[in-house]
Amino acid sequence: MSAIYGKHTWPEIKSMDKDRVVILPVGAMEDHGPHLPLDTDNLIVSRVAESVAELMPQEVLLLPTIPFGFNEHHKDFPGVIFIQPETLMHFVVDVACSLAHHGFRRILLLNGHGSNHPVLDLAARKAVITTECLCVSASYWNLIGADIAQHRSSRIGGIAHACELETSIYLYFDPDHVQLDKAKVSIVHDDSKKYFSLDLMGGSKAMVMQWWSAQTEDGTMGDPTVADAHKGKLFFEAAVRATAELIREIRSIKMNSRKDHH
Ligand SMILES: [Zn+2]
Repeated sequence: MSAIYGKHTWPEIKSMDKDRVVILPVGAMEDHGPHLPLDTDNLIVSRVAESVAELMPQEVLLLPTIPFGFNEHHKDFPGVIFIQPETLMHFVVDVACSLAHHGFRRILLLNGHGSNHPVLDLAARKAVITTECLCVSASYWNLIGADIAQHRSSRIGGIAHACELETSIYLYFDPDHVQLDKAKVSIVHDDSKKYFSLDLMGGSKAMVMQWWSAQTEDGTMGDPTVADAHKGKLFFEAAVRATAELIREIRSIKMNSRKDHH
């Protein structure tokens, strides 16, 4: 039976195992330096989700990727489509409510863009209290910190945006759309800061998101110059493995009923 949600008929959805994990990938349309296309986040998160669906077709159902995200802080760069965080949250919660209405109990919001993370975290929490289904949010890079550490060539600060990670994965899938000759190092991370990190490996203890154009000249944060397709394959396969593991964990979470103690 297909893992692609939209390929099913309504009687098939009706009789389907409702403990399949429904994956909703969420990306963004935004600047990724002068060397990567606007659709970088969409391409990566969609490929990860598609590969997971191929790997475990009986355990998941895959929805189409939401191609726009929360990124108004990027809008000084031409091409960015920016969605208000409230809009994105409501939209995602509406999707979750629809799924819950049809009986699905387990949902994964799989994120491909940094600033969607807090929005999807909130959306997942809201979906749980609105629908009582299990709604999980996860950003793929947070699942593969150890693999990033193992395979990276850049120092801390080299993996943040249009960086070694994203450029490598894009090179692995679609090298014709990567203009590596235009890639420049743009490390914004400050080693002297204890609580702020601008590297995706490990994340930041405290958070401030300034206007993107105030932090980087060409939109890059990190070191895309050391990217290559082989590393892209390693990063990508790690993301698929980790997401598949996460899905097994989501399927194994026991869903207890609530108890109102009033
Ligand atoms: Zn990106």
